Amino acid sequence: MPKEDLSLGDIYIAGQRITAIARRTPLVDSPNLSTVVGSKVFLKLENIQVTGAFKIRGAANKILSLSEDERARGVITVSSGNHGRAVSYVAQKVGVNATICVPKTVPNNKCQAITALGAELVIKGENADEAMEYADELQVERGMTMVHPFDDLEIIAGQGTIGLEIVEKFPKIDTIIVPLSGGGLMSGIAFAIKSIIPTIHVVGVSMERGPAMVESIKAGRIVDIIETPTLADALAGGLNKDNKYTFPMVQQYVDETVLVSEKEIAEAVWFCLKHHNIIVEGGGAVGVAALLSKRVQKLGGNIAVVLSGGNLPLQALRKIIADGEVAK
Ligand SMILES: *Cc1c(COP(=O)(O)O)cnc(C)c1O
Repeated sequence: MPKEDLSLGDIYIAGQRITAIARRTPLVDSPNLSTVVGSKVFLKLENIQVTGAFKIRGAANKILSLSEDERARGVITVSSGNHGRAVSYVAQKVGVNATICVPKTVPNNKCQAITALGAELVIKGENADEAMEYADELQVERGMTMVHPFDDLEIIAGQGTIGLEIVEKFPKIDTIIVPLSGGGLMSGIAFAIKSIIPTIHVVGVSMERGPAMVESIKAGRIVDIIETPTLADALAGGLNKDNKYTFPMVQQYVDETVLVSEKEIAEAVWFCLKHHNIIVEGGGAVGVAALLSKRVQKLGGNIAVVLSGGNLPLQALRKIIADGEVAK
């Protein structure tokens, strides 16, 4: 069971290991959201993290834990964009070759960021699952190390450092709201915070369009979903069928799951822009969307929401601003 495989100590060590690469992001209060919700709400700004998303934490922890031999052979991964960008960044920084497989659905801004960092970009497959199959083949062929986007203890420990940072700044926290896809972010944060504050209420949020983890939790087993285009592109994709860690960890630690619509996601992005002067991508804004739409069933008095990324494509930003101006 994952509980024995991962300890709070591993997350502290990850925090130390990644300090030279990842940023300790601010936790800011949101007076507007606090008024809407009627509780104290703080936002964890991973949208201003290095490479624009939290994924740098797990990628740095994983790549920095590889042996000399593994580093020499290089790393490979599959990504909906942000993970690939993070792996490329860390690989370039420490001098490791990286191959990044992405499906055709990944936005162009994310592809460009990956190639600009010197990694080899392989665009293959109609969706994340197809890209993953191809990455598995290439990994064997090239003898590289797979840096899985979520189902890996080093990745989970890296993402868990967000939980430690939140508790240090906000020890009164009683509710944590986290975007949920493959569950690496959620597993790390929930494990870290529940180890320190066992009574914390953990809420995972996905989009209505293709919520693989939420459907799998409901079914009690990993189910296939149909991928549909969504503003929360960073949350798209299925779970790996041979999932070892994140599915059981999410089953064990998540107390509530919430689904949000495309309109609610767009409104949340607009809200962050208008009230906080920050750009949050769709997948990063689902926690705010869950609060604004009043879809969270159980809310404590002290809530932290993880804004997981800020890599919003320009066209999407333009549309959200135009729609927001009209709605005003
Ligand atoms: C990857 C990603 C997520 C989801 O993380 P998982 O570990 O797959 O659950 C959420 N938000 C953003 C911006 C991401 O890039």
